[in-house]
Amino acid sequence: MWSSHLRNFLSRWHAKSAVDARQNADVRRALVESLYASPLSLAIGAVAGSAVSAVVAFTAKDTFITGVAALLCVIAVLRAVSSYYFHRNLKKGRAEGSRSWELAYELGAWVYAALIGLMAFAALVRSDNAIIHLLTVSVAAGYAGGISGRNAGRVHIAIGQGILTLAPTAIGLWSVDSITYRILAVSVVLLILSIAEISSTTHRVVLEALNGKHQKSLLAAKFEKLARYDSLTGVENRMAMQMRIRDMFDESNGERDGLAVIWMDLDRFKEINDSLGHIVGDQLLVLVAEKIGQALGDRGTVARFGGDEFIILCRQTSRPDAAEVAKDILDYLAEPIEIGGHHLTVSASIGIAVAPQDGHDRDEILQHADMALYHAKHGGRNRFSLFEWSMKERFHRVREIEAGLRKAIERGEFKMHYQPIFDIETGQVACCEALIRWHHPVLGDVSPGEFIPIAESISMIGPISEWVLGQACASAAQWPDDVRVAVNISPALLRAGDLPRTVIACLYSSGLKARRLELEVTESVFLEDNAQTSQILRELRRIGLRMALDDFGTGYSSLSYLRSYSFDTIKVDQSFLAGIDKSFEDRAIIRAVAHLARDLNMDTVAEGIETHEQLRYAKEAGFTNLQGYLLNKPMSDDAILKLLERGEGAPPASMWSGMPSSQSINETADAGALALRRDAS
Ligand code: C2E
Ligand code: MG
Ligand code: MG
Repeated sequence: MWSSHLRNFLSRWHAKSAVDARQNADVRRALVESLYASPLSLAIGAVAGSAVSAVVAFTAKDTFITGVAALLCVIAVLRAVSSYYFHRNLKKGRAEGSRSWELAYELGAWVYAALIGLMAFAALVRSDNAIIHLLTVSVAAGYAGGISGRNAGRVHIAIGQGILTLAPTAIGLWSVDSITYRILAVSVVLLILSIAEISSTTHRVVLEALNGKHQKSLLAAKFEKLARYDSLTGVENRMAMQMRIRDMFDESNGERDGLAVIWMDLDRFKEINDSLGHIVGDQLLVLVAEKIGQALGDRGTVARFGGDEFIILCRQTSRPDAAEVAKDILDYLAEPIEIGGHHLTVSASIGIAVAPQDGHDRDEILQHADMALYHAKHGGRNRFSLFEWSMKERFHRVREIEAGLRKAIERGEFKMHYQPIFDIETGQVACCEALIRWHHPVLGDVSPGEFIPIAESISMIGPISEWVLGQACASAAQWPDDVRVAVNISPALLRAGDLPRTVIACLYSSGLKARRLELEVTESVFLEDNAQTSQILRELRRIGLRMALDDFGTGYSSLSYLRSYSFDTIKVDQSFLAGIDKSFEDRAIIRAVAHLARDLNMDTVAEGIETHEQLRYAKEAGFTNLQGYLLNKPMSDDAILKLLERGEGAPPASMWSGMPSSQSINETADAGALALRRDAS
């Protein structure tokens, strides 16, 4: 029975030791701390042990016992001192070498226990003084009982000490030829077993408590990480960034001086997300966060503000330094990225505001960095802007326009105006360009040149264009059958993809023939060679619509567009006509384009005719159509109907007199082409 109990106990002890071995550093450290947890009990043990040893040594008058007692006193003092130092180091946070503290404690504990056991054994064997027997056996039993609880944190120490103390005591008791002593010897052996049991049970409870505490702290750390860091990119999140910037502003001693807020937004991220899917979008964000980190180095911290926006905070940074950081980020982003077989080139727009000159509190500096970002986006993207106070005014106007645009259709604030485009041969109106007009209740008339780009940026261009197309088709359906209507189509609308559906719906509801609708697109639609854009342009042509290339000469003006997309009309930008009296180059370009278009069998519209000189020159250069204030300004729906039906308000017939002969046109055009060639060489 005893052996099975002992086996049982030993196997449990081993199992616990294995668990002990698996304990991570934190739990181990806590357990070692528990050994030294009560320096007072250690001191009391040391004092009691020393006092009893002294009495025993004095009474027994035996050299061996005196030697053991002296050694016991020395060890007791050393242990009390080591406990004191452990606590001092712990307070200073230097208890990390817990393994050596544990060994020191273990050694001291075992030597001390062995000496107590040895003293009891020696007293029982070498002396027949019952008082000494009583004292030494009680000290051994009391000590063993005490350590079973005290050292349960390291269970093998507690059990080892129990055995070292009580085993010699039991042997000593057994060696005395007395039944009473022998019964006591057996009791002492039983005491060893119960001490082992108590220690291991207490140890298990302590261990479970410590493990629970450890798990809780791990969980707390995990939650803190979740709360502070963006789960996708691993950089700080919006909340952490806001706390960081608040702390920076709260800090005294002028820390906020030179705090740069660099606000970055990826260009056209939504398109990547929509066309390639969210998984690619997510991977892109992760790579972008990495690239920002690489570009930034240790100059600041980066946080994901949400979506595709990142905020970088740099302390003690001047405006030029912040601009340098932004430039580095743009350079890093410019390197091509490959995700899942897709080769992506990404760019970003960046706004920078630096405290204290650009803002005095957290909200203001963030708002100003946002304004600078807006400026960068509208300045053409892939760039950074430093905040300027003048941006504030513009920003508020833009915000007002944005808010107004969202309600303008339902409030009926838009109107359509139409500007005639004349056939140069006949002097008749061939087409009318539909131009939107908006009267804002507070801002008054806002030009489409200003609000159309804003409508594009807030995704309002779709509904607005739908409204324009509906109005233009309905008006044109009232006009003579040989007059077309030209509608401006924003590049953003072509990218969105549902234009053909809208066009068909408008043609259907107005009854307008497709050949009478012309869509004007600018060269900017070709800036990104987007397969979807080409597909939509071809679909629109299949429906039977005419296509015009508007503002030709202001973008890339690549002749390859003319070849690939077979436009019906080229509209040369008004800036060229405006420059004819001063610029030889403008004159040469105008003539060359007119000549080229004629050979490609396309119509050419000279936009922005304001003077008789421009009119004469456009005729000479060989344009087929003319548009401009000199002929007619854009006019209301009623006015254009009167002009088309009754000729009311039409330019005088004299305007068309003195047209150059076709031969002189050819000569002029050839001269222009020659001039261009000369220019190129
Ligand atoms: P655009 O398509 O090049 O339109 C011609 C612009 O030149 C119009 O300005 C017109 O009023 C103006 N214009 C015509 N003749 C002359 C002239 O002799 N001298 C001068 N200085 N200007 C002349 P507007 O109406 O302010 O439109 C500006 C731009 O806004 C348009 O340029 C077009 O790109 C855009 N836009 C206008 N309406 C719409 C629309 O309904 N949808 C879209 N997406 N864009 C529109
Ligand atoms: Mg136009
Ligand atoms: Mg134009």
